[in-house]
Amino acid sequence: MPELPEVETVRRSLVPVVLNKRIEAVEILYPRILQGVDEEDVRDVLVGSEFTALSRRGKYLIFELLEEWELIAHLRMTGRLIFYSNGEIPLAKHTSALFDFGDDGQLRFEDVRKFATLNLVKKGNYEQIRGLFTLGIEPLSADFTVEAFSQMLEGRQATIKGLLLDQTKVAGLGNIYVDESLFAAQIHPERAAGSLTDVEKERLHQAITAVLEDAIANQGTTISDYRTGYGQEGTFQNKLLIYGKKGELCPRCQAPIEHTKVAGRTSHYCPRCQVTKV
Ligand SMILES: [Zn+2]
Repeated sequence: MPELPEVETVRRSLVPVVLNKRIEAVEILYPRILQGVDEEDVRDVLVGSEFTALSRRGKYLIFELLEEWELIAHLRMTGRLIFYSNGEIPLAKHTSALFDFGDDGQLRFEDVRKFATLNLVKKGNYEQIRGLFTLGIEPLSADFTVEAFSQMLEGRQATIKGLLLDQTKVAGLGNIYVDESLFAAQIHPERAAGSLTDVEKERLHQAITAVLEDAIANQGTTISDYRTGYGQEGTFQNKLLIYGKKGELCPRCQAPIEHTKVAGRTSHYCPRCQVTKV
């Protein structure tokens, strides 16, 4: 599933090619992609309008439109937003929606598993999009300080893995980057969040930021479906140290890597250098 670095990579790749172009036509090929709005309303607002900005919150992409509207996309499991410079290129089999810029190409929303979503709202009116409305701190923003992170963990009985996956706490993290961050900080995924020492909190805070930045610099992680806005694979899968590495040797201490279920998710860790102390 695309996480913050993948969604941010899609955003950065689309900004130069989809903004300030007149939307000539909209086609919704899989109507259930639309949440709380019908095809006709989407067409009424979008056709003749332009995307004026593209921002990201957590794993949501926010396409700002003229006249105070916003189109909000979530890729979920297998969604891809890909720009095609030529609208004559045949549609991929699982194309759910497309936005046609005439001679200036097409933005296509492709999705094999069909969990991806599109919402249309008045600017900033996110109450109806629960996941967006309740998002926690953006981990690459100035708000994500060691102090704010420490407070978030204070007294929490939940596992640190579960807490980091909770989008209402830190926005945009998923299974891959939580495992990589915990490995970098040498913290076991099953530790109670509130049990981390000040040093560990600082180390984890630093690890989260560094892992996300490195993943964005590498255009995200392609394990199966994820592609950039140009249809290319990311390269961070080549830099993963712990995620998906069960049975391989820990790059830090050479102990065999293990996995276990934490917060309902398969979690990879090194049993020697991510020791449970509490
Ligand atoms: Zn190790």
